[in-house]
Amino acid sequence: MTTSDAATAAYIIAALLFILSLAGLSKHETARRGLTFGIVGMIIALAATLVLVIDASGALAVSLLIVAMALGAVVGLVRAARVEMTGMPQLIALLHSFVGLGAVLVGWNGYLDKGGVAANLVRIHHAEVFIGVFIGAVTVTGSIVAFLKLSARIGSAPLTLPGKSALNLGALVVFVALTAWFVASPNIWLLVAVTVLALALGWHLVASIGGGDMPVVVSMLNSYSGWAAAASGFLLNNDLLIVTGALVGSSGAYLSYIMCKAMNRSFLSVIAGGFGIEAVAGADTQDGEHREISAAETAELLENASSVVITPGYGMAVAQAQYPVAALVSTLRVRGVQVRFGIHPVAGRLPGHMNVLLAEAKVPYDIVLEMDEINDDFADTSVVLVIGANDTVNPAAKDPGSPIAGMPVLRVWEAENVIVFKRSMAAGYAGVQNPLFFRENTQMLFGDAKERVQDIVRALDRESVH
Ligand code: NDP
Repeated sequence: MTTSDAATAAYIIAALLFILSLAGLSKHETARRGLTFGIVGMIIALAATLVLVIDASGALAVSLLIVAMALGAVVGLVRAARVEMTGMPQLIALLHSFVGLGAVLVGWNGYLDKGGVAANLVRIHHAEVFIGVFIGAVTVTGSIVAFLKLSARIGSAPLTLPGKSALNLGALVVFVALTAWFVASPNIWLLVAVTVLALALGWHLVASIGGGDMPVVVSMLNSYSGWAAAASGFLLNNDLLIVTGALVGSSGAYLSYIMCKAMNRSFLSVIAGGFGIEAVAGADTQDGEHREISAAETAELLENASSVVITPGYGMAVAQAQYPVAALVSTLRVRGVQVRFGIHPVAGRLPGHMNVLLAEAKVPYDIVLEMDEINDDFADTSVVLVIGANDTVNPAAKDPGSPIAGMPVLRVWEAENVIVFKRSMAAGYAGVQNPLFFRENTQMLFGDAKERVQDIVRALDRESVH
């Protein structure tokens, strides 16, 4: 068996492990096993690639590769160890931009180093270079804007340049024309032009998308980074990179489709950069009077409730309130109160964010319900605790003029009493003011969600001692 045969066999095993990993990650019970498959697959893939490099380029090349990998691994380990759960979305967006940058560099290298390309494949090679650089560059700037928006370094409101959809479409038409030109006559300036065009397009596509649609963007960029890696695989003649890139690309695209369905958005209009979504002036302004409630009064209300639903959101993650929330749930259940959770599909900043936090705090899975499973029950609920959620419980979604119009939300306002835990009257991530706060059956419990929930648990414990 030659080294190349052994590497191919190792690549097939690694590809199978990646598929098993994806399958495992689709359910929380098997997610840990899925991760193990992914890690083992990656170790096998890296080892096989190192063996191939030794075979083709000698010990010096492999030493340089090991130094580069070690540096990357140290930076990655330090960042991963330090990141808070709430910082994960922006870290992931930043990592996507590295994949895009890798594809751009591989594409440029493929253009400058034409050695080894058979004469009859030169045109295909040129097309691969051009397409790889385009997808990679869109991913780089798109991911950087997503990183800036998710980390609140820039505002989440959509950029609305005049004729923005025409700009995006025009850029695609220019790309197709430039590709044909480059394949016929591979001039370096055409490659420079497509790199600049794609960097600008990536920036504009993501900047044009409003905060409420960001979940789709995150999964879409995940998909783009997969296609960028697959394009690099073609250029480097690396089958595993093609397979892995295609797996990431297609699963990311499917996740985006699921997110769009959950948010009642058109898949095509979101990936086209928020086509048809316009910013609405004054969407974040306050309307009406709100009422406040204290933690002790909330405890009293909960004691006398027959059924309670908790709808957590991003604020629960920020406050790390999941542990006191789990304690509150057990206290109420011991007293015979029915307690359930209602989870919106885009609550928090990551798909499944709330489920992960609640599982971490050991909340039983069977009381954690999806939005569609709980929405009809709010009308028969005594108290809803909205803990750090805002956009996902916003009745403005029913208003056709709102930036979040059409997005399905948890209909918490149908309950007898709604208590909203937050620190101020500020709008949610989509920048839209929430009329829920001014309803007659709503009361605001201001302060850090963790501290307020702890206050309620203490008040309930005091009651039970007396
Ligand atoms: P929102 O982001 O709409 O609102 C969170 C609320 O939590 C804020 O109103 C904030 O109000 C409050 N909050 C923040 N910190 C605290 C704290 N320490 N204690 C108490 N309250 C706090 O949350 P939702 O989960 O309802 O909605 C998610 C939004 O994020 C949607 O727009 C979604 O589209 C978007 N998104 C989701 C992604 C996903 O994959 N799930 C990815 C990207 C975006 P205040 O500052 O007044 O305390």
